Amino acid sequence: MKDHETKAHEWLTNNKDELIELAQDLIKIPSVTGNEITCQRFLVQKLEKMGLTPNLVYPSIKDLRSHEDFFETTSFVKFGYEDRPNVTSVIKGTGDGPSLCLSGHIDVVSPEPVNQWTRKPFGGEVEGNLLYGRGAGDMKGGLAAMVFATRAIIETETKLKGDLFLESTIEEEDGGVGGVLSLRMTEPKYDAAIIPEPLDHCIGIASAGVMYFRIKVIGRPAHASTAHYGVNAITKSVPIIQALEELHQSRQNTISYPYAEQDETMKGRATTINIGIVQSGDWPSTVPGECTLECRIGWPPGETRTEVRSQVENAINNAIKSDVWLTKNPPIIEWFGWNARPHEMDIRHPFTQLVVEENYKATKSDPIFLGGAAGLDARYFVHQGIPAITYGPRAERIHSFDECVDIESMITVAEVMIGVIQKHCKTA
Ligand SMILES: [Zn+2]
Repeated sequence: MKDHETKAHEWLTNNKDELIELAQDLIKIPSVTGNEITCQRFLVQKLEKMGLTPNLVYPSIKDLRSHEDFFETTSFVKFGYEDRPNVTSVIKGTGDGPSLCLSGHIDVVSPEPVNQWTRKPFGGEVEGNLLYGRGAGDMKGGLAAMVFATRAIIETETKLKGDLFLESTIEEEDGGVGGVLSLRMTEPKYDAAIIPEPLDHCIGIASAGVMYFRIKVIGRPAHASTAHYGVNAITKSVPIIQALEELHQSRQNTISYPYAEQDETMKGRATTINIGIVQSGDWPSTVPGECTLECRIGWPPGETRTEVRSQVENAINNAIKSDVWLTKNPPIIEWFGWNARPHEMDIRHPFTQLVVEENYKATKSDPIFLGGAAGLDARYFVHQGIPAITYGPRAERIHSFDECVDIESMITVAEVMIGVIQKHCKTA
């Protein structure tokens, strides 16, 4: 008699066309952050066809505001949470094994500028071993793989001891507050979680801290012909921009985190300060009276939010010391939007090791531990004490034109997930 694992893997091989089709269907329904509902409803139907009873779980802004990791996301400010459900579902186990959650985000970033695409952004076209479209890699390919791994468990009538949960969440691209964070306040505390983000079979064990800040530099408007009556807010911003650039350089020189620097181009770049928006002036003949800078700081595990915040503020305060105007009219610093703590999983943790083993079985390659350069939803699980690993397919050009996922790699992820489910939840 064949064991559960062989049966599930055979089922997957025989039905892989349907996995590709599911990923295509998900890509064809645009779900740019803020407009996730149509794609969520589609997924609900798919889960119902698998015999599951999925729930639509709406974020409660009232409850979220009380959480230490809450921040108002851009998409919450724009769209609210009224029409933006998460989807959850469960396959109940016999009750005497550890539970597992497979978690994926349904939202994708905008495909703009679409004129750079050589394929339809929401076409789900297949060419050779690649499936194209916005979200193919990030992360509808992974989401389809986890749904399919679950289907393999159901279709092969594998009885699990622990409960197996599925979560399809909103707004990961915007910080995941209404998504994974909100579900951490309503759903059970699972014994482990796995998130199939497109990490090319690396074992994702860490995520970066990320914060946004805004600096408003005050000047004094005047007519350009009598500019000496005014104070130019743009030129007054220059020492601040320089100070941020110096802080960026000195942090890169002193902070290192091997798991964020696996890629050769990332060496010495585990932390970054990016000046993303500079806004000032509205007329060539007017001395600008205000200049606003909006920036992002990202850093690997090792520093707290308070430590990072005071470094930035000290750098700005030091930069204005020698300027009489700026000392009398100090710039206003505001922390807004993204406010994420870093997270880190122990590479020796049994759940990390389980993913390592199953990855080795499927790919015959040694583990590459990765993470800590960008924010990831896994942090919300780990901060709640749930071991969580990010592990997903190979993708190309995520967040860019002609995004695609490697189809073989997507199938391998489903295979690895089947192994992780059976070993972690245990078969009855
Ligand atoms: Zn993603």
